[in-house]
Amino acid sequence: MPEETSSVSSSIPKVKLRPRKAQPFFGRHPWVRDSGIEKVEGKVEDGDMVQLISDKDRFIAYGLINRNSHLRVRLYSWDPEAKLNDRFWKARLERAILMRREMGLLTETTGCRLVYSEADGLSGLIVEHFAGHLMIQVTSLGMHRRLDSIVKILTELMEPKSISLRGEAGILKLEGLEVESRLLAGQLPEEPITIVENDLHYEVDLSEGQKTGFYLDQRDNRRVAARYLPSGAKVLDMFCYSGGFALNAAKHGQAASVHGVDGSGPAVSAAQRNAQRNQLDNVSFEKADCFDYLKARVDAGDKYDAIVLDPPKFTKTRRTIDEALRAYFHINRHATQLLRPGGILVTCSCSGNVSRDEFMMMLLGVAQKSGRDLRLLEQRGASPDHPVSATCLESEYLKCFIASVG
Ligand code: SAH
Repeated sequence: MPEETSSVSSSIPKVKLRPRKAQPFFGRHPWVRDSGIEKVEGKVEDGDMVQLISDKDRFIAYGLINRNSHLRVRLYSWDPEAKLNDRFWKARLERAILMRREMGLLTETTGCRLVYSEADGLSGLIVEHFAGHLMIQVTSLGMHRRLDSIVKILTELMEPKSISLRGEAGILKLEGLEVESRLLAGQLPEEPITIVENDLHYEVDLSEGQKTGFYLDQRDNRRVAARYLPSGAKVLDMFCYSGGFALNAAKHGQAASVHGVDGSGPAVSAAQRNAQRNQLDNVSFEKADCFDYLKARVDAGDKYDAIVLDPPKFTKTRRTIDEALRAYFHINRHATQLLRPGGILVTCSCSGNVSRDEFMMMLLGVAQKSGRDLRLLEQRGASPDHPVSATCLESEYLKCFIASVG
């Protein structure tokens, strides 16, 4: 370690680690769990800036403390000269926005994730951009306490038409923080707005939609999956939400017919409106439970040329991993049975707790059990506005495998 890192500023409260607990944090992992902490020196309020020090009193990094959370300190800077002040947050936000701008994802009509938490050095903050409107999700108390500053900085950098906050129920338990959905700045449109992605138009309801209204992480996978469709294909899009994979298959994949299924009525209605909006008349949607639907199609002996499986997160913790893997196995097994020889399976998992290897092993089991050759053509992740931090691999969550089923 460089010598200067041992200079510890005396005025900032210190969080001292237990012996042999410092290595991941010298290695720039941003989550300090309560179990690794020896003591807090100095007076702190939750959300305050603290300095993390080793058991030998060496400076490691600056972070924000929350004594209500198992993630006791989230780290933001390893520079001993840094201050976690508005200027610091502005520089981080500028860097995140610039990267998206340079990727060409920030025009007036697009949807894009502007800030992705740890992957942008802003643990606990997610910001999405929908055609000039911004949607913020805060998942840490430290970021929530700085919301006014963040709104001010985002207003300055983006001049958005509106900024709203999307609350999430689980945060109360994890962070001791109540976050309510509300408008923070500007004016929300009365009607759903339209974004353009892969030359397709989608409505995004900024007030009612699930999550942040649209699943931006699948942008590139939708387009790439369409490339693998044989022309004239009969396609099934399971867990279709507002129709992303289905519309790409119809528009870019020359599919003959696409059927999308989702358990949510509003999602299915939005998908139907999106098909009309894009003048795609060979796409239909239906509200049903996908587990039941797949089973019914297998029982009926139906066959498809391509099937997309993009289910919701099946587990939020490692404890229920086996159940989640069983559920993945179940739907992938049924989808495999429904594919004609040479058919294309696009299978996704957005459960961060299920690793790529585990997902792969699940597919191996499906191939063995169904006696079909399953060849992986692409192993993809989320679109690049959802980057993976090399020092916080928990920021990787989305797997999207495209396979040929022999
Ligand atoms: N493929 C979509 C995103 C899917 S998100 C896209 O490209 O935008 C997961 C979806 O699964 C949600 O829309 C949710 O309503 C739906 N869902 C969750 N459980 C379901 C179930 N058992 N049956 C059908 N749909 C379900």
